[in-house]
Amino acid sequence: MAKVYFSPARPAKWRYDASMPGKLERLLKEMGLSNYFSPKEWVAVKTHFGSEGAHRTVRPVFLRKVVEGLQSIGAKPFVTDTVRIKGLDYLEVANRNGVNHLSVGAPVVIADGLYGNDNILVRAGEILGEIAVASLIHDVPAMVVCSHVKGHINAGYAGAIKNVAMGGVSSSHRDCGWKCGRGAMHTLGEGRLLWDSEKCELCYQCAEICPLDAIVFNEEEALIWNGDTCWRCGRCARVCQSEAITLPGDDDRFMRSLAEAAKAVLDTFEPQKVIFINFLTEIQPECDCMPMADVPVMQDQGILISDDIVSIEQASVDILRNALPLPGSAATQADTGKEDDILFSLSRKPYRIQMEEANRLGLGSLIYDLVEL
Ligand code: SF4
Ligand code: SF4
Repeated sequence: MAKVYFSPARPAKWRYDASMPGKLERLLKEMGLSNYFSPKEWVAVKTHFGSEGAHRTVRPVFLRKVVEGLQSIGAKPFVTDTVRIKGLDYLEVANRNGVNHLSVGAPVVIADGLYGNDNILVRAGEILGEIAVASLIHDVPAMVVCSHVKGHINAGYAGAIKNVAMGGVSSSHRDCGWKCGRGAMHTLGEGRLLWDSEKCELCYQCAEICPLDAIVFNEEEALIWNGDTCWRCGRCARVCQSEAITLPGDDDRFMRSLAEAAKAVLDTFEPQKVIFINFLTEIQPECDCMPMADVPVMQDQGILISDDIVSIEQASVDILRNALPLPGSAATQADTGKEDDILFSLSRKPYRIQMEEANRLGLGSLIYDLVEL
């Protein structure tokens, strides 16, 4: 049974070792980084840089603790993520969100090149076939996955599986385009974007958020979509509050494809070369790639660490299930049934399929031993 180490968010004493950074230090020590990583070994610290306006990402102070832990055993860490918007702009987003060499104490680099097409096709599974893993993540021998746990309009719950799946894969491949990238998880078939002019309120948010300018409105106020340029990232559909935009897909397939892509990424590593840290902090309803972050829907819960991606995800959702809704947040407006947890009630998405499928694919165990520190 996999061990999941957990430190709750609340400090019991007025001392540094009771603080969240102090607790993370202790978790890293308990995990024993030298059990996984070697002196001089390059180690990717995979996080999500967020987006302009979404500030509730894993804070630089925590990334620095991970970097320093790795450096203390002689390893060579760097902090990385894949391109969501054009690469130079994305590095600037990271910088504005406080993630840069100076703050985290290690180089901050894009994993799939500034154009987001520096990647390697690997076998995935029956849903995705092949998927384009970011070349840096494909080639690096070891990784620490730092995930900000939160809700998500499509995934319902977003933690380590989503961070590895969506974040370890590029948006596009040089030859097969979006069909081998993360768009293949978001949508199916040709992924044709459908626009309902009756529902559209002409707010133009979809055009504003598109990283590729693949949406424009003509003089007749009709939406023109460039399907050849579009990455099928789904951002336009997510910001449309009138539900005027849809991309073809279904929840079951989406959750399973996340697990499949996570496996494809993790299969590029030797066993025992990846560990996972889940930050149950600032748990807001939406993805960190949106142009804003809502207020947290529940109180900070703490930090978990494990070498089993399924166990840490299961432990995270088990902790979140017992959390109370925060007043003044979206959680108090959600349609919460008797059996529902907050994240499910916000999205109505069957997010548990992510963990069940990851377990079925052999990525880890749904049963875990929670060790509280
Ligand atoms: S975001 Fe939705 S409502 Fe606004 S312009 Fe686009 S399609 Fe229309
Ligand atoms: S899915 Fe929407 S936002 Fe994303 S690239 Fe295509 S048109 Fe742009």
